Amino acid sequence: MGKKLRKAVQAAWGILCNGYVKGFLPGETIYQGPLKHFCVPGMNCYSCPGALGACPIGAMQAVFSGRRRKIAFSVVGFLAAVGLLAGRFVCGWLCLFGLVQELLYKIPVPKLRVPKTADRILRFLKYGMLMLFVFALPFFFRTEYGLGEPFFCKYICPVGTLEGGVPLVLLNAGMRQVLGGLFRWKFLLLILCVLASVFIHRPFCKYVCPLGAFYGLFQKVSLLRLHYDEHACIHCGKCAAGCKMQVDPCSSPNSAECIRCGECVQACPAKALMFGMGNSKKKGKTAHGVYKEKL
Ligand code: SF4
Ligand code: SF4
Repeated sequence: MGKKLRKAVQAAWGILCNGYVKGFLPGETIYQGPLKHFCVPGMNCYSCPGALGACPIGAMQAVFSGRRRKIAFSVVGFLAAVGLLAGRFVCGWLCLFGLVQELLYKIPVPKLRVPKTADRILRFLKYGMLMLFVFALPFFFRTEYGLGEPFFCKYICPVGTLEGGVPLVLLNAGMRQVLGGLFRWKFLLLILCVLASVFIHRPFCKYVCPLGAFYGLFQKVSLLRLHYDEHACIHCGKCAAGCKMQVDPCSSPNSAECIRCGECVQACPAKALMFGMGNSKKKGKTAHGVYKEKL
């Protein structure tokens, strides 16, 4: 039930965010109405023919790279508020690209377990993406006209290629004739991401996504928290074994890598894990009603 509900929410949210059906008709342009001034909380390409809102990572770069080098408080403030409220909940429940990767992982082939040391090092990559490609390069690197560039969107983002680049190229014959090396490079990155997703669970989210990195910074202080009742726990290990993000919720229930999917809560036979707001000790209902507030 829990997994199906989450998939349904992920799909419904993806459809809602890309509900401008007219944009998918040949010859039509993308939606540019008033809703595009606002960001959706998850990764969703601005240039997707159906996109009704802006992508937060794209919006952040657009403001940083402007001539006046403004700090995007409206965007950063919105994202910080989402992070403070729910941490990486958006990654688990409101990201269409997360759903795409999860569906690819369902393809029945032997799965790849990234060695622990490599996995630990690779997880830092997304923070590098955030600091370098989203903040530093658009802010400091200028063209001769005094403008920066949205480096992450332009050179890396496979979400943009899948949701924006590919549909626009398919719908627009003129675009197909002027495709260059940059599109081929980004298409290659998308193919690599798709292939990796067949063998590794959500590799883009684990290793590359700057938005996941940003929300991860709030996991330990967010209002929505995963609570662990060590008195109820029978140490069966089912939670850690079932977590596809490789988090052990007994030792680190609010890890920056947890996407709040809730699968460990469903898997726990002793009801030792549950979501709650804040420290919520009084409201808790685990077997012994006692939480160990671990970060
Ligand atoms: S710790 Fe639990 S909620 Fe977090 S990602 Fe793993 S299974 Fe999902
Ligand atoms: S699944 Fe529940 S009982 Fe088993 S180790 Fe995890 S928290 Fe403890």
